[in-house]
Amino acid sequence: MFVDSHCHLDFPDLAAREDAVLAEMAAERVGHALCVAVKLEDFPRVLALAERHPNLSASVGVHPDNDGVEEPDVARLLALAEHPKIVAIGETGLDYYWQKDAPEWQRERFRTHIRAARACGKPLIVHTRSAAEDTLRVMREEGASEAGGVMHCFTESREVAEAALDLGFYISFSGIVTFKSARDLKEVARFVPLDRLLIETDSPYLAPVPHRGKTNEPAWVVHVAEEISRLRNEPLERIETVTTENFFRLFRHAQAH
Ligand SMILES: [Zn+2]
Ligand SMILES: [Zn+2]
Repeated sequence: MFVDSHCHLDFPDLAAREDAVLAEMAAERVGHALCVAVKLEDFPRVLALAERHPNLSASVGVHPDNDGVEEPDVARLLALAEHPKIVAIGETGLDYYWQKDAPEWQRERFRTHIRAARACGKPLIVHTRSAAEDTLRVMREEGASEAGGVMHCFTESREVAEAALDLGFYISFSGIVTFKSARDLKEVARFVPLDRLLIETDSPYLAPVPHRGKTNEPAWVVHVAEEISRLRNEPLERIETVTTENFFRLFRHAQAH
């Protein structure tokens, strides 16, 4: 079976088709998906998804793009992370692409998530865009290695991947790796050690080729696996096996079903 290590099934386009989305997963042998929270206001519906379906798990966190939302503190994150269906803290991180003034509140919020992850022993889901240097710096300063986690929807350089691997993190590739234009990223996908590789959709965004431009869904994570299999000259079954093993090793509170 395949695992989608990062999706947003609570977003309206997917939530409206919940049963169909789960049926498509089953048809493509995508046996598990991690539903990632982006704000506390929406957390209850993310958790509800994971409670309704044995093959879904969830995370708790506030995305760095979300300005003007309820701000989490460590105690709040820890309380919400106690639920057995919550397998990770995030998504969190830094995004200077949408917040071009690189606001201090993003770094503070990121530190809060790392502290919570260290305190509860659940891994981090890190989002980084146009902010790789600061992301790695904050991770080092806060001892993120102790919690571990994943650099999700990875689009950075090989050097950044190496630095994240040195911190003990996994690297997750999305549908972007299937895009023709993503030449440098394809190189990174060839180099990441097999035992640190994850795959994801980040659905509803970033549908992989051949579905580019449509509403993405977890079933299509198979296309990400196929591209990585081509790039690395490894059988698809091998990519399927290692990425699934890696997922349940990293997110050890997730239940294979
Ligand atoms: Zn993200
Ligand atoms: Zn996401």
